[in-house]
Amino acid sequence: MDADIGVIGVGTMGSMAMWQLARKGVSVLGFDQYGTGHDRSAAGGETRLFRTVYFEGDEYVPILKEAKKLWSQLEEESGNTLLTLNGGVMIGNPEFVEMQNAIKSIKKFDLEHEILTPEQAKAKYPQHHLTSDEIMIYDKNAGVIRPELSIVSAVQRAEELGARILRYTKIEKIVPDRDGVTIVANDREYRVGKVLITAGPWAGNLLPQLKDSLIVKRVVLSWYAPKDMNQFTIENFPVFAHLGIDFKLTGTPTVDGSMVKASNNPSFKVVGDPSTLEKEVSLEEVQTASQFIQEKIPGLVPHPVRATAYMDACTPDGHPIVGEVPEIENTVFMCGFSGHGFKMSPVMGKIAADLLVEGKTSYPIDHLSPKRLVNDLPLVKP
Ligand SMILES: Cc1cc2nc3c(=O)[nH]c(=O)nc-3n(C[C@H](O)[C@H](O)[C@H](O)COP(=O)(O)OP(=O)(O)OC[C@H]3O[C@@H](n4cnc5c(N)ncnc54)[C@H](O)[C@@H]3O)c2cc1C
Repeated sequence: MDADIGVIGVGTMGSMAMWQLARKGVSVLGFDQYGTGHDRSAAGGETRLFRTVYFEGDEYVPILKEAKKLWSQLEEESGNTLLTLNGGVMIGNPEFVEMQNAIKSIKKFDLEHEILTPEQAKAKYPQHHLTSDEIMIYDKNAGVIRPELSIVSAVQRAEELGARILRYTKIEKIVPDRDGVTIVANDREYRVGKVLITAGPWAGNLLPQLKDSLIVKRVVLSWYAPKDMNQFTIENFPVFAHLGIDFKLTGTPTVDGSMVKASNNPSFKVVGDPSTLEKEVSLEEVQTASQFIQEKIPGLVPHPVRATAYMDACTPDGHPIVGEVPEIENTVFMCGFSGHGFKMSPVMGKIAADLLVEGKTSYPIDHLSPKRLVNDLPLVKP
């Protein structure tokens, strides 16, 4: 045996799982086709939003509350600042299902918040332009995460606790059997007791049963210069999500006293082969993003100084896939985070470690079970 547990893909979820597995004292061997904290996949672009008032479903709130604690723990163990809770605002028409979901999550979990009319929002956060039919929800337990530093911190901590990682090692094949799992890379075989597949956009290649349920979407990020820097600092500008009929603008304050990052992807391009992600952003994409920035956040110079693309694996219902797939032995899958996984990654690491070591977890993850997607599919061993 090369290790008790093998981790395939040491990106967002894989790094956190390695940290949590190493904390449990099991031997763990991770593999990534690239280096640690690279920008060729789902994590990258300097910031991610942390939100607790959750429009993707109130079933995530307990996971997010726990995530907040685990972010602090990783900060303490690594000595790095990873999550700054500077608050968050969500803007949209109260009739939108996302806004109603957000309000449902507030009511169900008594979350700290404020609801502002367009006039109140203008007085408090003049950076945002709201129309008369929109409201603003302020989420106190929201903030900015530093994604690359988070991954590097989790991996560093895992290595300090005895975990091993093979970087620049692409896994070609995984063969599970009753007694363990054989992992194949570069004509070499590794043998582990159990395996965790956290391959992000590439997960479908390692999991034929779910390939059709995992669509890889390209997500463009752009960076803008503030006209008045003071308005966009971490103290004065909460993270935001502004939802419209034909746009979804999200972003973070300037974390380095320079640019404000925003994402607006009215329509996503599907990525056929994740290894050939188109990082280059077209002029048309830049112009569309600029138009919304000009309208919605007029205090930014609307022409991005930089724009680049990332990607994430998405499922049809927008929920990730977490757990074992029937008939595939000694294997736990954790993928399909559908554009909202970073904030919950430390908990996902803990859940992975629970499932791999104890065979169960106390976290509420029924809605994430792979069974919801594989039930009707013929099972083919990978
Ligand atoms: C632009 C953008 C903005 C986002 N904004 C937010 C946000 O604000 N808040 C939020 O919570 N979430 C956000 N998300 C979502 C979040 O970033 C993702 O859900 C999360 O990073 C997915 O993590 P992952 O571990 O599944 O994938 P990744 O982090 O991509 O990790 C997968 C890893 O597997 C490795 N790998 C794959 N195949 C192999 C192989 N065969 N052999 C070896 N290694 C392999 C890859 O190299 C990679 O390192 C955003 C996503 C994008 C793209």
